[in-house]
Amino acid sequence: MGEMLGLNAALNMIAGPCSIESEAQMESVACALVHNGVKIMRGGAYKPRTSPYDFQGLGLEGLKMLKYTCEKFNLLSISELLDVQNLQAVLDHVDIIQIGSRSMHNTALLKEVGRTRHPVLLKRGLMSTLDEFLHALEYIVSNGNRNVIACERGIRTFESSTRNTLDLSSVAILKKDTALPVVVDLSHSLGHRKDIVGPIAKASIACGADGLMVEVHSDPAKALSDSDQQLTLGEFQILCDEITSFRDHMGAC
Ligand code: PEP
Ligand code: MN
Repeated sequence: MGEMLGLNAALNMIAGPCSIESEAQMESVACALVHNGVKIMRGGAYKPRTSPYDFQGLGLEGLKMLKYTCEKFNLLSISELLDVQNLQAVLDHVDIIQIGSRSMHNTALLKEVGRTRHPVLLKRGLMSTLDEFLHALEYIVSNGNRNVIACERGIRTFESSTRNTLDLSSVAILKKDTALPVVVDLSHSLGHRKDIVGPIAKASIACGADGLMVEVHSDPAKALSDSDQQLTLGEFQILCDEITSFRDHMGAC
């Protein structure tokens, strides 16, 4: 994945807030990323919210904040594209386009990003089989864009102890059956269960994940979206340390 994005990062971590909220918020999170050697910053500008009354994201203003922050801190950026009409704006401001879980079945959107040569991270639909996910990835690739990253973010099951049920077998299958880089989204799969983010991060790496995504906020309690699941800067530091020592240990085996 690092090679694909022109990176030389030891840790393919994508981290940042759920939503872009302010320049100060972005700046404090970016400092933590740089401190931990993380190269890719996330932040949503167009937010797919369950309720129309919830914060919908800052839109273009948010994209500008993300671009400004990432240029300042020499980071790559990723943000979600929800609607074809915002494609050009997203192309102009981010390095990687995210297509979210709720849009996995939006074939018009998949075809449009497939016609670009921009890296695209596609998340598995929350109610999708692996076969449907593979076909959605194929929509992008078959339209000419081979710069595709598959992201497992958990699926909806009867289990309620985590926000979604993280399907790690899909990671192993994707690694076996495709040539695509695979990222595990720890935050949207585990939800409020931040207490198990370390072991699940390690399990993801052990079964072949090329990268991890995690939401980090300077003040999660005040976050405008997903406040329950975002890590504080301190928690993020602990996670990065835990992953680094796990990777060192794996390398030594
Ligand atoms: C997100 O990453 O901001 C997001 C909304 O995730 P998902 O599409 O996996 O729900
Ligand atoms: Mn979120």
